[in-house]
Amino acid sequence: MLFTPEITPNAYIPPQRRLLGPGPSDISTRVLQALAKPTIGYLDPSFVSMMEELKSLLRYAFQTRNALTFPVSGPGSAGMEMCFVNLVNHGDKVIVCRNGVFGNRMVENVERCGGEAIIVDDTWGEAVDPQKVEDAFKRHPDAKVLAFVHAETSTGALSDAHTLCKIAQSYGALTIVDAVTSLGGVPVLVDVWGADAVYSGSQKCLSCTPGLSPITFSDRAVNAIKARTQKCQSWFLDVNLLLGYWGETTRTYHHTAPTNSLYALHEALLVLQQEGLENAWARHRSNHEALKAGLAVLDISYVVDEVARLPQLNSIHIPAGLDDKQVRITLLQDHGIEIGAGLGVLAGKIWRIGLMGYSSRVENVIACLQALESVLLSQGYACKKGEAVAAAYKAYAQQAVK
Ligand SMILES: *Cc1c(COP(=O)(O)O)cnc(C)c1O
Repeated sequence: MLFTPEITPNAYIPPQRRLLGPGPSDISTRVLQALAKPTIGYLDPSFVSMMEELKSLLRYAFQTRNALTFPVSGPGSAGMEMCFVNLVNHGDKVIVCRNGVFGNRMVENVERCGGEAIIVDDTWGEAVDPQKVEDAFKRHPDAKVLAFVHAETSTGALSDAHTLCKIAQSYGALTIVDAVTSLGGVPVLVDVWGADAVYSGSQKCLSCTPGLSPITFSDRAVNAIKARTQKCQSWFLDVNLLLGYWGETTRTYHHTAPTNSLYALHEALLVLQQEGLENAWARHRSNHEALKAGLAVLDISYVVDEVARLPQLNSIHIPAGLDDKQVRITLLQDHGIEIGAGLGVLAGKIWRIGLMGYSSRVENVIACLQALESVLLSQGYACKKGEAVAAAYKAYAQQAVK
């Protein structure tokens, strides 16, 4: 007798949603259809030429001429880990900026690599303070690496990557930059910054399926990796081994590339290139401004100061008297809209409305405000029907005049 589990599965049909949380974001039909193209071998000459295009599209997205630019077969967390396991040796000092959840994960990575984390803390919801980083280097001029999160998705704060990279360079340190939420939504200028190891994620402003992590390494970083005397602690994420598949000259088996996901990433990056980075950044800003106008009418305030506010991740205070969970569940079940909850110290205190990539559209801003207003009214919140949407339309009209 064969074992028969109790649950009888049916074909899975996911519900239609608007994904307005911290990722994944909505995926266009164009990108979804790319997934359904025939699977071919990862060493097939046709696939190999697609890989070359993919690398070149990634160089455009990251604004870098770095030769070693490719997608890691794993989510953003795998990209993060690849940077740390390759660039941090036992005993290395690493200055880590921590102003949210993801900075804390960087500390975890440093410690697991046997490094010494020198932590620079900033208040959640604020940008990393460059002066504190400068002070940390003054105290630890022997630090090998500076690591920070460009766009903290847990709080909605954007840090000044250019200034932080320049500080690290003046002390001869390498930089590890988390651009998971920033890539495609706000400027990520790897070569201008002189950043050394930058990773992102496929499911945020690139609006591809989750599970891939675009990554780029400067020549300085590659030299440091090639000069390692300690073996990288991870076999799967060892850049020296992966060079054999994603490098310039050779195509040898390392692991089976996730072929169809890579078709989708190729398509998502092509969409971005066809729109143009500057237009994509402007679209994220425009929809953010309209959402902001609507939220202001609802008397809902932002967590982050205007100067450091991410247009693609709107973190807002939950007004007093409202039931956090009930509002989110009603938005999902009655309106098909997913928004994000607060994490860590901000849990229960904030909501995170993502307008990332293909989710950053006028219809989503309007639908979100309409639904939010209706749910808030049902919870007895004092606001006037229709005013938030009207304010958003007005903001769009003003942008058109400008
Ligand atoms: C989402 C996110 C990650 C992790 O990406 P996963 O794909 O979930 O592993 C890392 N850093 C930041 C800033 C993120 O927003």
